[in-house]
Amino acid sequence: MKLPKYIDIMGRKYRILVEPHYGDISGNAGLQCPDKRAIIIDGKLKGEEKSLTVIHELMHALFHRLGLKQVLDSGTEEMLCEMIPVFLVEHRELIIKILRSANAKRP
Ligand SMILES: [Zn+2]
Repeated sequence: MKLPKYIDIMGRKYRILVEPHYGDISGNAGLQCPDKRAIIIDGKLKGEEKSLTVIHELMHALFHRLGLKQVLDSGTEEMLCEMIPVFLVEHRELIIKILRSANAKRP
């Protein structure tokens, strides 16, 4: 999966950086950095692990943009950022079907 260089999250442009040795240096698969408006993904990730990590970091960025970081404790945020991507990947075929149907009905 080739990732775009940028993604718009609620009107703010975030760079998506794939760093070949990010996981070796940080011990994490990914990071979202609101100050730098960047999402960093370990370049060694492949397949579903990469998909889950990208969605996980996008969730963190979205929560930051929504101001939920002030409302959610870090454990709850982390749990949501873990569970929502797993839910989306597990149900991807149904979600894609719904989105295609919705797009087909657009004028
Ligand atoms: Zn996280």
